[in-house]
Amino acid sequence: MTSVHHDCDVLIIGSGAGGATTAATLAEAGHDVLIVEEGPWIEQGSVSPFSLDQMDKQYRSGGVTVALGIPSIAYTEGRCAGGGTEVNSGLYWRPPEETLERWRSRYSIKDFATDDILSICEEVEASLSVQTVPGEHTEASRILQRGADRLGWRNGEIPRWMTYPEGAGATQGKRQSMTRTYLPRAFEAGARLLCDHRLDKIVRNGPHAVSAELTHDGRPVTIAFRDVIVCGGAIQTPAILQRTGLRHRIGRTLAVHPTVKLSAKFAGEVNTPEDVSVYQVKQFAPNMSFGGSASHPGLVALALTDNWREFGKAVTKWPELAIYYAAITSEGRGIVQAIPGMRDPIVTYRLTKRDRDLLGQGLARLATVMLEADAEEVYPAFKGAPIVRNRADVGAMTSMFAASKASVMTVHLCSTAPMGGDDKRCATDSHGLVHGTDNVFVNDAALLPEAPGVNPQASVMAVAIRNARRYIDQRAG
Ligand SMILES: Cc1cc2nc3c(=O)[nH]c(=O)nc-3n(C[C@H](O)[C@H](O)[C@H](O)COP(=O)(O)OP(=O)(O)OC[C@H]3O[C@@H](n4cnc5c(N)ncnc54)[C@H](O)[C@@H]3O)c2cc1C
Repeated sequence: MTSVHHDCDVLIIGSGAGGATTAATLAEAGHDVLIVEEGPWIEQGSVSPFSLDQMDKQYRSGGVTVALGIPSIAYTEGRCAGGGTEVNSGLYWRPPEETLERWRSRYSIKDFATDDILSICEEVEASLSVQTVPGEHTEASRILQRGADRLGWRNGEIPRWMTYPEGAGATQGKRQSMTRTYLPRAFEAGARLLCDHRLDKIVRNGPHAVSAELTHDGRPVTIAFRDVIVCGGAIQTPAILQRTGLRHRIGRTLAVHPTVKLSAKFAGEVNTPEDVSVYQVKQFAPNMSFGGSASHPGLVALALTDNWREFGKAVTKWPELAIYYAAITSEGRGIVQAIPGMRDPIVTYRLTKRDRDLLGQGLARLATVMLEADAEEVYPAFKGAPIVRNRADVGAMTSMFAASKASVMTVHLCSTAPMGGDDKRCATDSHGLVHGTDNVFVNDAALLPEAPGVNPQASVMAVAIRNARRYIDQRAG
């Protein structure tokens, strides 16, 4: 079979939050950039957001991916042009200052001034039109606000990367994902993108990477480059590096925000299938936060399966149901391990006892918010869970809860190639250059040394832009 060949100065693998910002920054500085993306380009609006159809088309493995453990943790990754930014909830959080300071000191990250990162965040906010909803909120948002307000718990609206017609309500926003923002900027500056191109491995000559081997439509593709920047996301990036023979501290420290869920039924219609709540409850942050999940009817049905015999009858009332989550900051860590001959890596994650306890507390508090917001019935997502109708039921639920029985999941994946000056803890230097190489960089969620305790995309983007600028300076010098 004949192989197709391309050349470029800088090859970027992956077009998500890390890859797209890196591509735009380098292309605008005059670099010859080629981006390769395993997934397809899917126009926004051609797929219903938060639907099972979207999972099928824009998620890796249709959204059925799991980190093995007790309990196993279901996780999802975007796999399309724009990566996770095309499918996510768009909720924007700057990295907290104390988190940036802890990362700098604990991982000896050089040139990592908090003010510099926050000033990049300001640029990102402008580029993505980060804002609150100008008009009406969905009922699912108001439920969280109402329940938390009645309990006196801190809560608020989280801004999103959305544009809205003047005075429009929550559901009329247009997501400012990478296919609408940084990727067009990169193209404008001359960058090229090859979709449906999967990188298999990078070919090295000692510390120096020389080319990449890919597959497109079953055919081999090779790309020669000067430098390669891996932005495949926190699961794929370590797998790519391991397949390339790079292993130092790679894939050993996966960090996630585990969540447990419940569905809550109200007296009237509350379900907005194509949107999620923009309110979060932060009373117990950073350890624990509550928010709204995608509640498409298919997902409601899935959320009721933990005790289908008791909960199943509620499925026909899905317009009156919405799904909510309790997320925790986890002390546990996971491992990503590429297996020779297998397409996808094996992923494992170990929750600590404190993590498992926090998940139980989180679910109980979240059920309390729902009851305060006038939920008639609450269906917690763990095997054999009871229906919760009042405060006494919350106590009964808590005594039956075990994390090992819960449907735990996460969409925040980080820290599998942490950056920093401490070689013993870090896979790359302070700016993403992989140890043992002179031209292989990482610039995505894998670099964050820990899960940030808030929605991570802004942290990923700010760090990626910082590192891309440093790369430009170094290549110029
Ligand atoms: C359902 C969901 C909801 C979320 N909600 C929010 C939210 O509200 N707010 C927030 O801040 N964050 C949210 N996130 C997290 C956020 O999307 C991620 O933190 C961010 O996208 C990570 O950026 P990244 O560049 O590391 O990876 P990604 O954005 O995942 O991009 C990686 C890209 O690399 C491609 N790729 C991987 N391997 C290869 C290969 N071998 N060859 C070629 N291409 C490859 C992938 O297909 C993918 O497109 C959510 C994530 C999900 C999945």
